[in-house]
Amino acid sequence: MAEDAQAFYDRVMAAGDSEELAAMSRMTSWGTFPFEGEGLRVARLQPPELPEAPRTGEGGRPCDVCERVASRASDDREVWSNERWRLVAFEPSGAPLVMMLVPIAHHDLPDLPDDLAAEMGVLMQHICRAVEAVPRIARCHVMRIGDGGAHLHVFFFARPEGFRQLRGSFLVVWDDLLPPYPQAEVTADASAVARALAGSYGGTAR
Ligand SMILES: [Zn+2]
Repeated sequence: MAEDAQAFYDRVMAAGDSEELAAMSRMTSWGTFPFEGEGLRVARLQPPELPEAPRTGEGGRPCDVCERVASRASDDREVWSNERWRLVAFEPSGAPLVMMLVPIAHHDLPDLPDDLAAEMGVLMQHICRAVEAVPRIARCHVMRIGDGGAHLHVFFFARPEGFRQLRGSFLVVWDDLLPPYPQAEVTADASAVARALAGSYGGTAR
């Protein structure tokens, strides 16, 4: 069983101050760490707050994903959809392409019906294949986190070829640090992925 929040907090507080914690970091030696080590300090862990605040789409908070589904005609971020899923492309950020797959019905991953879960697996594979088929994209990172919203959303991060530092999980941090990718390339590559998905799986590319 996981530690209760107070025990977790007390153990972290006893381990050292922010500079000592930074010195204990394993990630800083990975070669992909996006910050210089000199003067590095770890943010102080705030005391636990329980119960946690509800995410969007639960506990009486409106669901922004369902609201976008309801107004999908005016949502130009959507690049592909079928009767059960939609794929949206993000505005340009540091990575060449960032996309998100969401079910049209309000489900989180633990309560996703088996038929949708099975379809999600196939879609993830087809999307990954289409992203990695874009010239000069080396890898498509796929992840579900879900701490912000209760409506399932699966991220796809395209990793450009040739940059050793952009490999691995820090790509999502580099995505925020690097200047926005050119809009024309993001639009063209998102459309190419959508067309490839419509061709290999079905559904409609916008
Ligand atoms: Zn929802």
